[in-house]
Parts: sequence; structure tokens; C-alpha cells
Amino acid sequence: MIFYSTKTASLKASLEEAIFNSLPPDNGLYMPEHIPAISEEFLADIENRTFKEIAIEITHTLFEGEITRSEIETIIDNAYDFEAPVVKITPDDYVLELFHGPSMAFKDFGARFMAAIMSYFLLRSKKEIKILVATSGDTGGAVAQGFYKIPGISVTILYPSGKVSDIQEKQLTTLGYNVTALEVSGTFDDCQRLVKEAFLDPELNEKFNLASANSINIARLIPQSFYFFAAYAQLKKLGKPIVFSVPSGNFGNLSAGLLAYRMGLPVEHFVAATNLNNAVPRYLETGSYDPAPSIETISNAMDVGSPSNFVRLKRFFNDDWKLVTEKISGFYFNDEQTQKAMREVYGNANYVMCPHTAVAYRGLQEYRKKNQNNFTGVFLSTAHPAKFIDLVEETLGKSIEIPERLKSLLSIEKKSVKMNADFTEFKTLLMS
Ligand SMILES: *Cc1c(COP(=O)(O)O)cnc(C)c1O
Repeated sequence: MIFYSTKTASLKASLEEAIFNSLPPDNGLYMPEHIPAISEEFLADIENRTFKEIAIEITHTLFEGEITRSEIETIIDNAYDFEAPVVKITPDDYVLELFHGPSMAFKDFGARFMAAIMSYFLLRSKKEIKILVATSGDTGGAVAQGFYKIPGISVTILYPSGKVSDIQEKQLTTLGYNVTALEVSGTFDDCQRLVKEAFLDPELNEKFNLASANSINIARLIPQSFYFFAAYAQLKKLGKPIVFSVPSGNFGNLSAGLLAYRMGLPVEHFVAATNLNNAVPRYLETGSYDPAPSIETISNAMDVGSPSNFVRLKRFFNDDWKLVTEKISGFYFNDEQTQKAMREVYGNANYVMCPHTAVAYRGLQEYRKKNQNNFTGVFLSTAHPAKFIDLVEETLGKSIEIPERLKSLLSIEKKSVKMNADFTEFKTLLMS
């Protein structure tokens, strides 16, 4: 698979280069030059395939000629010991549960694949790698788990102090070994900016093989397309068009849905659902894109003022706003509306959602109001509700159970390095 930079079409990279560089040198984003279609025979029979079989087929379709099928099988086998089931919530709406992985958030799908494919390339080249990752909550946990104890790779995680939940913070700060957590006095955007600066810094690049695990990395984006296919496989028998509602922050998840669509997955429409960090819904409405500083909300993993995958999202439609709006509708909600949705679904379906999932649910309902046609709605559940336990319990007025996997974390002591949102300080820390 050949990639090009969204800023300079003539700037190309191989799969391995795109994965280890993360960003092209001109600071654009890597996009596949050509998106191959999934085979029709496979789609015709997809309802009989397991998640792993689907993941193998998609990866094989994309990387054919670069990685052998049996090596792909090993990569997928190492990455996934969890699934992406759909659960019925209303007669026509299903939730796609993406929280059955080790960190209990959808980012496990990307992080596990990325770790597996990086270690595949590392075994061949024997390079040592330093992963830098900024997180607004869930990325860090997924990446930490994904790369934990992988030989030849160390991970440095930057997170905004006081702006992630207790459980999220424990997931970042309790592993140790090759995982270091930097607690930044600032916002997620500050963390993201520091990481971006590090990638452009000649001295740091001289000393380390830097790689990113943020959703800008193509190795995280690609595997997120697997579960759009997996949802289709589970719902195909209903015989209706499918609309996906994606709770969005950096828009990696929605971009992965677009990749699936471009590979030939039958998708009727996408809903881009956000909290008040609504640069993309406003762009869909008006055609002008005005990113803003991030605003704090209860769906904090989506508190992104300037989404890093926006350029990619547009590129799937050749940067044509009209075409984008034909396939994607945007809706945004405040915290009160989000909490109302959490109570509604709990009341009607006895189903507990995290606030991000509630934003997606709400987006789907808004879309339904405007489109009376008959379709199956799928809203993505990006995290287990127990990861936001205080908010969920307060909103629903009841206590919820914490899965053992999360409970055991709470008693482990946090280990983080405190830091200001200052590049010189960050660089000194990395160099020391
Ligand atoms: C990261 C995250 C999102 C946003 O996903 P993007 O790919 O950045 O749009 C939504 N919900 C949760 C729980 C997340 O961790």
C-alpha cells in the first residue's frame, strides 16, 4: 500500500514508513493512494465470518503483496482476543459495543493492531522505537496496554492533569516497565501540540526513532474499519440500509468508517456526533471550518477543538463539501442533553451508556427525526460506562458495577511525572 501526504501529493511513503513516521515530513497526513475494494464473494458471505476472519480479510486486501496472509493471521491473532458485538436498544437501533478489550474502550482495536504490526516490522529491522502519545483519556490506556512489555518499544504518554477520570488515570500510570506517564498542567490540545513539536524537532529525531500512536497514525486508523464490517455482518440479515452514528473527537473513528465505506461496505449514511466541541458539525452545516480551543464537557475523550483527522475526512470526498454532506450529517449536544439521553436509554432499555456513547445515541435520534426512511441505526459505544463511574452513577441515580479488570487498578499506586505545557521542559525530560 502506498501512502501520500495530504499536503504534498507527490510525497509518498511505504506502509512501513507511514507507520513509523506517523506524519509526513511536510506535516500533512498520510492517506492511501489507492483504496482496494473488499471482494464481493467475501461481502456476500460476511454474516458467516468471525471478527478475526473479517479483520484478516480486510488487512489482506489492503496489504496484499507486502505482508503474507499467514503473517497477517499472526498479527490479527496477537492483536484480538475480544469482539465487537451489537446489542438491540430500540426496535431499529443497535449499539455496537467496542469496549471489550483490555482498556475497555474502542481505542484497543487500533492500539493492539498497531503494537502487533510494529513489532512485526521491528523483528525484521531490529530498530528501537520511542512512542509518543497525547491522550484526552482513553488513547493512553489503550496504547499503554497495547505496547506494554513489547521488546524494542518504549512509550511516553502525555495527559492533561485533572482532566481524565480516576480509572483512566490509573490505566495510564500504573503499568510501569516501558510505559512512562507525563502529567501536563494544561489541556489535551497542549499535549497534542507538544507531541507534534517533538516530531518536528531535529535533535529529538536524531536521538530517537520517534513514532506516534495517536489516531493520526495509519496503523490505528486501518483496524478501526474492521468493526464497521463486523457490525454489518451481524445486521445484514435485517435487510435494511445501515446508518452509523459515531461519537467523535479527533475523527479517527469516523475516518475509519469512511475507509470501510470506500472499500465497498454498504453504508447508507454516517452521523458525526459531537459534544460542544463542534467544529465539524458546524462545517457540515455551513461549509466553513473554524476550529476553536477545546471546551470541557462530560464526554471528555471528545473534548477536541481542532480535530486532527478533519483533513482526512474531507479527503475521502476529494475535499468537496457538497459530497461530504451527502454522506455525513453532523449533530452536537450539550452536557444536559447527553445526560438526558443516558437516562432515556436506561429507562427504556435498561442499558447503561457512557457519556460518549450517549452523544452517538442522541445523534442517531436526531437523524431519525429528519429522515423517515426505514434503516437500521448503529451507534458506536466507545467506552464501558464504568470508566466514567462517578458521572454515570450521578446521572442515573443508581450504582453500577465495576468490572474486575478496572476494579483491581484502583488500589495500585499512580506513578506520573509532572510537567508544564512547555516544549523546552518536555524536550529536556525526553533527552535526559
Ligand atoms: C477517543 C474517544 C472518542 C473519540 O474518537 P475519535 O476517533 O478521536 O473521534 C470517543 N469516545 C471515547 C470513549 C474515546 O476514548
